[in-house]
Formats: sequence, C-alpha cells, structure tokens
Amino acid sequence: MCGIVAYIGSKLAYPVILNGLRRLEYRGYDSAGLAFIENGNLEIHKKSGKVQSLEEHVGDHPINAKIGIGHTRWATHGQPSDINAHPHLSRSGRLALVHNGIIENYSVIREELEQKGYRFESETDTEVLVNFIEDVALHHDGSLEEAVCLALERVVGAYGIVILSLDHPDTIIAARKSSPLVIGIGENEFFVASDATPFLEHTKEVIYLKEERLAVIRGGEITVTDFQNV
Ligand code: GLU
Repeated sequence: MCGIVAYIGSKLAYPVILNGLRRLEYRGYDSAGLAFIENGNLEIHKKSGKVQSLEEHVGDHPINAKIGIGHTRWATHGQPSDINAHPHLSRSGRLALVHNGIIENYSVIREELEQKGYRFESETDTEVLVNFIEDVALHHDGSLEEAVCLALERVVGAYGIVILSLDHPDTIIAARKSSPLVIGIGENEFFVASDATPFLEHTKEVIYLKEERLAVIRGGEITVTDFQNV
C-alpha cells in the first residue's frame, strides 16, 4: 500500500511533502517521487528505492514551489524503477498525476490511446490514466475537473489520485474510488494524503473524502463533487 502527499499553501511545498512521505514510509513502498509547479514549469523528481534516495537525488537543487505532489509507489503494473515511479506526466507535459491503486481496464484504454498516436515510457496503468485524462480534456469544451470526471466514468478499478496542471498552477485536483484520500485544512493551506499522518503536525482539521468524490482546491477554497453526477 503506497502513499500520496500533496500540498498547496503559503509554505515551501518540498519540505512539507518530503516529511509527509517519510511519515507514510510505514506503509511499505519501492520508489518515491515528487512534482512541483514553479515559475511556469512542471518539475518532476523520481527515484526507485527509499525516500532518502529521492532526497539525495534532489540534492541541493532549489525548489521554492508552494504547490506540489508526492508519492511512494508499491508497484502493481511494471517493476520498481525510476521510469515507472510516480508522478507520471501526460504527453504534453502539462499534467502530472500520482495514483494509489489499480486501473483494471488500463490495457483497453492504452490501446485506444496508442491508436491515436500516444506513446508510453512506462509500464504503468498510471501513465495511461494521466494521458487518458489529457485526451478527454483536449476534446472537452469545459473545465479540467469536468474532464477528469468524464475520464473517471470510464475507468474501472481502485484509485486515489492527485493531479497538477501547468495550465492551472494554483489548483490541486484529487479524486478517489475504493482507495482512501484525506484532506487537511490549515491556515491558508491545504494538504491531501492517503491518511492524515503526513499533515497532523500542521493541522487537525481533516475531511475524509467520500467514495467517488472529486475535490478541487483553488483560491483558498475546496469544492467537493460526486463525480458520477458531473
Ligand atoms: N498501479 C500503479 C503502479 O503500478 C500504482 C501502484 C501504487 O498503488 O503505488 O504504478
């Protein structure tokens, strides 16, 4: 069982997320990764092995972002490796996604996307999901969160996901089905995680995202919708 930690707020996201991932290490995992949005760039760092190896990999590289996502992976589709580690990027490089769980119909969706010219770097169901969301969004005349809901309607499986979008650098989108996600609400800041342990040192105000719900965190507010009804 792997872990997710995401942050948006007034603090530097990197130390908050890294410490959060450390607090999830008890769950067991084989690789770890991070994504941040800073100065119009979506920056990804990922590494197989321990959170410690990820931290060494990042090294002195400065990360001043106030929004980011982190993940510890327990491989289900594809071996533990740097390439299979999360976050996964969409083809355009504008969406990054972390995922707990399994997309059961990923091979059907992957084939459909390959026929449209998509190519995949990893063996994961997760890279299929982020590209599927991007493809639905490209053909949807509406918001990204609506496109995420439309994509998830086709997805069979269990997931907790968190998405960053370069086109919405002030927004975190999270959704879940049969895999837990918890949201922490602090002073001018929000956390999303697989359980509350990564952010209990920052806030005790917690929302347990209900089954088949999508949360959008933007502009200091959180909106939760039943994604089957969008
Ligand atoms: N199925 C995804 C993968 O293999 C996520 C596994 C997990 O829950 O960490 O990459």
